[in-house]
Amino acid sequence: MSLELIVGPMFAGKSSHLLSIIRRYQSIQYPILILTSALDNRYEKDAIHSHNHESYPALAVPELKYVSQRKEYAEAKIVIVEESQFFEDLFGFTLQAVEKDNKHVIVVGLDGDSERRPFGQILRLVPYCDKITKITSFCSKCGDGTPALFTHRKTNEQSVISVGTANDYEPLCRKHFIQEKKGGDFLKGTMMNVQSCESIDHWGC
Ligand SMILES: [Zn+2]
Repeated sequence: MSLELIVGPMFAGKSSHLLSIIRRYQSIQYPILILTSALDNRYEKDAIHSHNHESYPALAVPELKYVSQRKEYAEAKIVIVEESQFFEDLFGFTLQAVEKDNKHVIVVGLDGDSERRPFGQILRLVPYCDKITKITSFCSKCGDGTPALFTHRKTNEQSVISVGTANDYEPLCRKHFIQEKKGGDFLKGTMMNVQSCESIDHWGC
């Protein structure tokens, strides 16, 4: 029983990273169940893909809670949750899988949205995990291999990152992310809020 978290911005190659882990376990015929997010209420056969066209079958589900009734779950020793930021029941499901059902669980997803706010429930799992890895992309403005830590929204749309909107986003390094946010003025409000613990309920103050 163990829990591993893999986080990072969009375009960081999280799927490719995951596929390399899957490949290693496959080589010893380890039973793996991969779960990814479904946009509607159907259970579907899906797959995770990397940019070099490698893929592995996944089960697309709207919520995680029903998965524990399924045969694939009972047989799996490793459960991988991809696109984990979209699951509202991620926290409870993951703890049960690790600590009650003795699974090795790998949770993969965005750690923050395009305003660097915690996204979904993955950060709630940090105190419970064995290992956490933050992977990065390359900054699309530096263009010289500088690591991109954050996902920046190129449009003014205010909604959170959703499936199928990748063209509206780009990976940026810290310097360019701050530049895009008007020279760091946006931090003023954040710092004041952290001190007073007001109006940022996502920090749990
Ligand atoms: Zn940059």
